[in-house]
Amino acid sequence: MLLLLPLLALAVLLYLWLSRRGSTLTRQCLWRQNRARGLWRCAACGAETPDAGRPPRHCLRKS
Ligand SMILES: [Zn+2]
Repeated sequence: MLLLLPLLALAVLLYLWLSRRGSTLTRQCLWRQNRARGLWRCAACGAETPDAGRPPRHCLRKS
């Protein structure tokens, strides 16, 4: 059990680093929640995605 705790902390840090690194959001990307329609809409590129409780981490703009 004493060995597991540092490993768990390391895993959490690794996860945070990876999730931050994996984001492709740019400064132009502005996700706005549209509760009425139950979706998120990007004010910058107009992309829409179903509301999953949190704003998307990626811009869905087609490059
Ligand atoms: Zn966008």
